[in-house]
Amino acid sequence: VCALEPKAKVSDACASYADLNGLNDKLHPYVRNLANNTDFFSFYRLNLYNKKCPFWDDENGMCGNRACAVNTVDNEDDIPAIWRAEELSKLEGPKAQHPGKKQQKERQRPLLGELGDSVGESCVVEYDDECDDRDYCVPEDESASGKGDYVSLVDNPERFTGYSGDGAHQIWEAIYRENCFSKPKQGVLDAGSSSPQSGISQDQAVAAQEFKQVIKAHDRLEARKSGLPEEALDFEDECLEKRVFYRVISGMHASISTHLCYDYLNQTTGEWGPNVECYKERLHHHPERISNLYFNYALILRAVGKLRDYVQDYTFCTGDTVQDSRTKKMITILADAIPAGPQIFDESVMFQDQTADGISLKEDFRNRFRNVSRIMDCVGCDKCRLWGKVQTNGFGTALKVLFEFGNGHEGEDKPLLRRTELVALINTLDKISAALKALEHFRLMVTAEQEGR
Ligand code: FAD
Repeated sequence: VCALEPKAKVSDACASYADLNGLNDKLHPYVRNLANNTDFFSFYRLNLYNKKCPFWDDENGMCGNRACAVNTVDNEDDIPAIWRAEELSKLEGPKAQHPGKKQQKERQRPLLGELGDSVGESCVVEYDDECDDRDYCVPEDESASGKGDYVSLVDNPERFTGYSGDGAHQIWEAIYRENCFSKPKQGVLDAGSSSPQSGISQDQAVAAQEFKQVIKAHDRLEARKSGLPEEALDFEDECLEKRVFYRVISGMHASISTHLCYDYLNQTTGEWGPNVECYKERLHHHPERISNLYFNYALILRAVGKLRDYVQDYTFCTGDTVQDSRTKKMITILADAIPAGPQIFDESVMFQDQTADGISLKEDFRNRFRNVSRIMDCVGCDKCRLWGKVQTNGFGTALKVLFEFGNGHEGEDKPLLRRTELVALINTLDKISAALKALEHFRLMVTAEQEGR
């Protein structure tokens, strides 16, 4: 079992930092190309301005800096013709309705509608913004009736915006609070004893205990190296699932911090560029945050790799068939280059306990992640909200692929993926991949600084 590999550097994932850096060197250009150079993956439609924060009054936390603003696509000529309002309203006429939930379930195929033979509509009409039982995020409604705007993700890069202070802290606090699972529930790693009712075998229980020991040892080592008190490892007795939840959030936070430090505005000179002090303060002195970023890379890669077969039937409709087949080819090449087995990340060790408690742990996990996606409507900086929404949707999609797509059993009911979910997944992979590259550069800068170069 890869998870028992004692030399694993990224605990909870199966690959070492070196493995992941090596993979990233190889994959980064493909991911970048896919995210930046295809219409399908570079436009995202979302409701950026019309959703009220469901948790508190957010009037005071707004960011007025220019860098916080988002350029939405105001001229429809800038998006593929097939996505324009006029086309969308044609598609939603009396003859062409949103497929109902029943039809969606029956179809079990990634085609999102049957709105006319000549139109590949999978990227045009999204169902609605209602949650499917297996969603980890509150979905974005991409239909013509939705209140969304198209945004070019390429023209609105994630970078320093100046959004900070109480408003930003309140959001992070609320997000981390979602990790406080109220009732202690048993996950596989807490399986002290196994019984036929617990749904896990004696071998699995032993493996889980060993895995837990490896993780503990690794975390202690990391804590010692970074000078942190070992007793500060307060998640030690938590089950794997809760730790994964925390690591996803913390890794996403680390990725955002990396991007804002790497593309930082020097307010004295007015120039944009890497800020080493920002990096040292937020990341270099917190190796566990960097570890969580690598963990996220492993998790997302595993999800994208699992889509290899799924995307073969997917209609990448932008109205440009040449580009669409190129897009499919590019994502296939990417998925093929990701090791297929669980060498990178082994999701099968999670939610193993099939008792009622095991199922509710998964539900709890899913509901909490949905709440994180709702908190994004409280972010007071448009640019941060945009990327916060894209990335929570990206992780939500990865979790959906990992935990709701089954494990390769024939004929298994796979949930449908909305266009927004696929776009978010690939752009989130692009963000983490770019963050790992930025970290490499930052490390070189710190070394050069230490050597007085
Ligand atoms: P913060 O980053 O606000 O962190 C708050 C506290 O969380 C820290 O004091 C620390 O205790 C803890 N913490 C920090 N990092 C981690 C971690 N990785 N894991 C665990 N705990 C951690 N700003 C931009 O300039 N550009 C953006 O694109 C941007 N996007 C954002 C998106 C979202 C969803 C949010 C909530 C904020 C965003 N911000 C962005 C703001 C940015 O994240 C910081 O909040 C801001 O720069 C202030 O930083 P800070 O040093 O006070 O600590």
